[in-house]
Amino acid sequence: MSDLHRETRLARGQVPPIDRATIQPYADATPGPFYYQRVAHPVGHETERLLGELEGGRALLFSSGSGATAALALALLGPGDTVAVANGGYWGTVALLEGELGRWGLQVRGFDQTGEPPDADLVWLEPCANPMMSFPDLEAVIARAHASGARVVVDNTVLSPVLLRPLEHGADFVLHSATKVLSGHHDALIGAVSCARAEDHERLAAFRSASGLGAAPDAAWLMLRGMKTLGLRVERQSASALELARRLAGHPAVQRVRYPGLDPDPVAARYVRAFGPLVSFDVAGEQAAVRVERALEVIENATSLGGVASTLEARARWEPSRVPPGLLRLSVGLEDVEDLWADLAGALEVMQRSNG
Ligand code: PLP
Repeated sequence: MSDLHRETRLARGQVPPIDRATIQPYADATPGPFYYQRVAHPVGHETERLLGELEGGRALLFSSGSGATAALALALLGPGDTVAVANGGYWGTVALLEGELGRWGLQVRGFDQTGEPPDADLVWLEPCANPMMSFPDLEAVIARAHASGARVVVDNTVLSPVLLRPLEHGADFVLHSATKVLSGHHDALIGAVSCARAEDHERLAAFRSASGLGAAPDAAWLMLRGMKTLGLRVERQSASALELARRLAGHPAVQRVRYPGLDPDPVAARYVRAFGPLVSFDVAGEQAAVRVERALEVIENATSLGGVASTLEARARWEPSRVPPGLLRLSVGLEDVEDLWADLAGALEVMQRSNG
């Protein structure tokens, strides 16, 4: 059974009931593995088993993607250590590592992940970076980082293990905001880290127990339940995203489309066969972007990504110094692609009319 395909592994097996008990009584005066929920709980354990199996590593759940980021930084690094973080990726990662943990002596250096990483203790990559969509040459960057003694985290939130398994390319850790594609329904806040090595898994598990940064059983259950359809969702979302990226690229009101599946990006195409749900595109400035947001009727004007319902937002709202003012980030869901295109084209037309 060990050679089953990923979709089969995802679909097989029952989702266990949610056991919310914070304690399990000792048997024979001996604490069992689930003796206290902060340390581990049954549905979390099953979710970690499935994710670890998909990624070829040992997975641990956290309270959110950001909780997982905090745990990695605090468990692995200390004052004076440096993290090199890919430019154009999730702004909250930098806000946490630099803005918050900087006060504790962590140094953060931004770098272009399509080039070489700078010297650092930890290198943080993000394929299909949210929202700038750059894609690193994973094996080259990881080899370079390892040669200089750094370890590598790959934030795989956007692609999920259905499309990319960074541990197979040499990464030491994979991080997920499982709030997004893995859970898939915009109803669970949860994060995960998969570790290549048993000793790192042990260290992070100890940190999680000590810090209380673990995931609640309800969120773990929703994630496990969501993962049953992960393969199907990712295929459909990727196909619709590619189609919409192509159509957006041909639209006169769109200045630029950022999607590695367009053309496609030759580096990205070496690592993935499809490019996930996220498409960024630029219109003429922040006001124009907000006009598109307001004119949408099917696509939800909301943050986050990877859910069954498509979402779009103007990113300058949150990260004005990091993105072009007219950048819109679209996360493509499971709606009919023609409805999505009609909504986008209609909103772009409203924007054009009010600009003219
Ligand atoms: N990594 C990426 C790529 C994200 O998009 C996000 C959230 O938007 C995070 C990490 C943080 O995850 P969470 O919101 O679950 O804390």
